[in-house]
Amino acid sequence: MSVTEKIWVRHYPPSIPETLEYPDVPLTQFLLDAVKDFPDRDAILFLGKRMTFKELQLEVFRFANALKDLGVQKGERVGIMLPNCPQSVIAYYAILFVGGIVVQINPLYMERELEHQLVDSGAETIISLDLVYQKIANVQENTRLKRIIVTSMKDYLPFPKNWLYSLKEIIEGTKLKIPYGEKVRSFVQLISKALPTPLEASYESGDDIALLQYTGGTTGLAKGTMLTHRNLVVNCCQAAAWIYKAKRGQDTILGALPFFHVYGMTVVMNFAMRMAATMILIPKFDRDLVLKMISTHHPTLFPGAPTMYVGLINHPEIHRYNLSSIQACLSGSAPLPLEVQEKFEELTGGLLVEGYGLTETSPVTHANLIWDRVKSGTIGLPWPDTDCRIVDPETGEVLPDGSVGELQIKGPQVMKGYWNRPEETEKVLKDGWFSTGDIVRMDEDGYFYIMDRKKDVIIAGGFNIYPREVEEVLFEHPAIQEAAVVGVPDPYRGETVMAFVVFKQGKQVAKEELEKFCREKLASYKIPRLYEFRDELPKTAVGKILRRVLQEEAKETLSAS
Ligand code: AMP
Repeated sequence: MSVTEKIWVRHYPPSIPETLEYPDVPLTQFLLDAVKDFPDRDAILFLGKRMTFKELQLEVFRFANALKDLGVQKGERVGIMLPNCPQSVIAYYAILFVGGIVVQINPLYMERELEHQLVDSGAETIISLDLVYQKIANVQENTRLKRIIVTSMKDYLPFPKNWLYSLKEIIEGTKLKIPYGEKVRSFVQLISKALPTPLEASYESGDDIALLQYTGGTTGLAKGTMLTHRNLVVNCCQAAAWIYKAKRGQDTILGALPFFHVYGMTVVMNFAMRMAATMILIPKFDRDLVLKMISTHHPTLFPGAPTMYVGLINHPEIHRYNLSSIQACLSGSAPLPLEVQEKFEELTGGLLVEGYGLTETSPVTHANLIWDRVKSGTIGLPWPDTDCRIVDPETGEVLPDGSVGELQIKGPQVMKGYWNRPEETEKVLKDGWFSTGDIVRMDEDGYFYIMDRKKDVIIAGGFNIYPREVEEVLFEHPAIQEAAVVGVPDPYRGETVMAFVVFKQGKQVAKEELEKFCREKLASYKIPRLYEFRDELPKTAVGKILRRVLQEEAKETLSAS
């Protein structure tokens, strides 16, 4: 028996079942159902543009037919490199309708990161924003890309508004002239020429891969997590059961989390389809924009990351905005500080509860009970049908109740494996049990506490940063002999990246130079903000750099200063 099996009976409120029935349908079915039941309800609100479910479906069908005409086949990987906007939703569902596998790519990625994801996934098609076109063009030759479909934010904006100043760059797009032709297509042109003929989703079973969601690893570059239609359908149904006061066709969800991350994709986009809820799309987290959107469109649900809530509660004019529509917020991806939770609840009158999950689990596995019982400082209870056990991180032996150890999870939302990486898959997935790399404790009520992380991941502002990847970039600098990267506490971002550097004999460069060097190769959130130059780094007997020691030393120095 798993450690948590007995908890469900004791601690779920009667309104949440311990186990659920999951429909055997493709993810696209949620869109079809929403159109059937609520055709004229707004599906999308985007900076002044509204789109009903019926209109969204027509755009999805048009784009899916365009992809088919271009020759996109079942099982083919198709990249989406877009911020939250109508096109990102249209492209996502259209790819799934034609049986393609979505590869979400962060639009902030630099060429090195982008090339890795394209090469690893073998994507032949990408849908991107004009603003990032040049990056794609620069790496295209090294990849299997055959088709680049470019869209501009303006394509779906009726009129730019003056309060969109913070989005100026995204809206105006690139000054570059895009060379439209055989290889580079225009998104709007494809849509306007294609027919909205309905399509049956190309679907064999729930085991079909819907998505390759890239996540970093201790081994450096990111791996593609294979998430199936079943995984994603299941996690939406679990969310619907958990957030049981939400009713189909009634809610409005704030889409501030990016859809290229699994959290925003499932808990905002797919969940909104499942609930026939209206989505407010936020292309870039900007406090003023978010506050304006809340007071204009009155969202009822606001899934977010701690940094978003921190940003909002510290807005100097927060009291000028009406946030009272917000009923429930789920915070995940990093620990939620208690004072942030309390202040946000006070401002909105709604509830802000903490949950937990990983890319490999589609993502949510735990959450606090939204309306029934919240234990602050915990990640809550496991969701229906989600088994948990705590094991010795070294030996894998299952530990007794009350122990601190690594969390393992078994459930229908656990990934199929890593794309083309059987050995990596085997390391984390055995007999259906997925090793999270998080060190946890469970209390007598069955609530889980995150105590530590076995893996080296740094979580800054809700984004995961893998030290190995940053170190590899630093190593490429001709003056650097050794580098180690750690996460140190940061009041706003939760953690921030700090680099310890040893220069080669007779060489030395300034922090600014290293920053510039990293900026060319890494997305900005991964660039070390703090640096310490040393003569040597602490190491184990076998020469492994002791990141933990460096991290502890850095914490001490920072707290003393
Ligand atoms: P990702 O795969 O990007 O979703 O990152 C998953 C990791 O985020 C987990 O393994 C945890 O280390 C961390 N994480 C997620 N939710 C929480 C939370 N509520 N508190 C602390 N860490 C979290």
